Amino acid sequence: MRDVVIVGGGPVGTFLACVLAVGGLDVEVLEQRDRPSLRSRAIGIHPPSLAALASIDVADSLIELAVQIRGGEVRCDGLQLGKLSFERAAPAYPYVVALPQYETEALLRERFERLRPGRYRSGVTVTGVHERGDAALVATDAGTVEARYVIGADGARSRVREVAGISWRQLGRRETYLMGDFADPDSGETGAVLYFERGGVVESFPLPGARRRWVAMTDFLATDADSADLAALIRFRTGVTLAEPLGAASAFAVQQRLAGRMHSGSLNSDAVHAESPQSGSLRAGTWRRGPRSRSAGRIVLVGDAAHQISPIGGQGMNLGWLDAVALAPALQRALLVPGVAASVLGDFDRTRSAAARRAALQAGFNMEMGRPAHGLRLGARNALVRGLTLPPANALVARAFTMRWL
Ligand SMILES: Cc1cc2nc3c(=O)[nH]c(=O)nc-3n(C[C@H](O)[C@H](O)[C@H](O)COP(=O)(O)OP(=O)(O)OC[C@H]3O[C@@H](n4cnc5c(N)ncnc54)[C@H](O)[C@@H]3O)c2cc1C
Repeated sequence: MRDVVIVGGGPVGTFLACVLAVGGLDVEVLEQRDRPSLRSRAIGIHPPSLAALASIDVADSLIELAVQIRGGEVRCDGLQLGKLSFERAAPAYPYVVALPQYETEALLRERFERLRPGRYRSGVTVTGVHERGDAALVATDAGTVEARYVIGADGARSRVREVAGISWRQLGRRETYLMGDFADPDSGETGAVLYFERGGVVESFPLPGARRRWVAMTDFLATDADSADLAALIRFRTGVTLAEPLGAASAFAVQQRLAGRMHSGSLNSDAVHAESPQSGSLRAGTWRRGPRSRSAGRIVLVGDAAHQISPIGGQGMNLGWLDAVALAPALQRALLVPGVAASVLGDFDRTRSAAARRAALQAGFNMEMGRPAHGLRLGARNALVRGLTLPPANALVARAFTMRWL
């Protein structure tokens, strides 16, 4: 029996696997893909994550491949509304770095392979998890694996979350964007630029290899649009003419969602909803969970399986890594002293669920600021941006944008 089986070998599952392996645990990753995804997703990696990556000896090689973003500016109508520097936000890593997610994932997989050769199993799909007292059975299309704890790091459509009967709550409305990478002949400019324009936000971030990523808010999910359409939209809104496109543009929709809880054994709103009035009472200490939430507490969710945060602000993957940083010592204790498991994993659930709510709020604010604006709303928004990029507010905003409060 393994100490821990992690379902999902994306950035969060593989990072957690490395942290647990460094801590001496017997850990295995089950990943349904038989080859890595090259889909363009996360690029921004924040200072707390760099510190976490340093703990598994991945930070240096990642920083070497990445571009350092030391600050950014906000523009509207061809004018600068304000500037923000990350240099004072985090003493050890005074920057956010940008690297395509598939390159980050490759570094993590290589590190885990060195730590636990052969324990990253590709092409294995998990179909169910059965909790039974002191262990859990993980059913896959390649047989069954037994573990003391099972971690659902299987992304927003998590099968593990579903079999654990954990709710998935939608927040706010859906926004749509178009994104693409373009050559950046002026690659000496390594700041992020946010164009808060009347027709909606356009964002631009440097990438390694003299490239820049451009993201523009759209009125609908423009699945048929290509990079020429994206370049035309950006020129229309900002006046910027982009250089050669590098790859196809991709349209995506953003919907924020939060799991009702992150630990299957936690006593919280999900469990309360599942309980019938006759089945027990929290106050009297005779609590019994309803049939859907009956659980020995062997399942924990991390990353997008627990919270899907808008990419606007670049937090999702980083938030998942910070879940992993908090979960590793809790799992160590739970394995060593089973009597404290409910309490330490319950603490993990409370603190990381609260962090996810804060991240979702921040991302919601970012999305609100980026919406189309005209007249009074435009004036009020631009005044707010000017205020937020001046002292003393700018120090707080820099902390928020470098994820120092999550
Ligand atoms: C356009 C875009 C830009 C983004 N930019 C940023 C950014 O700049 N910074 C940032 O922090 N975040 C960003 N994000 C969010 C980031 O991509 C996600 O938060 C991150 O991928 C979550 O990692 P994860 O490991 O939790 O889940 P995933 O990356 O979804 O990985 C889950 C893994 O589980 C596997 N899996 C699923 N089901 C099963 C199963 N049943 N059995 C076995 N394996 C299974 C999947 O194949 C997958 O490999 C962005 C997202 C998008 C869409």
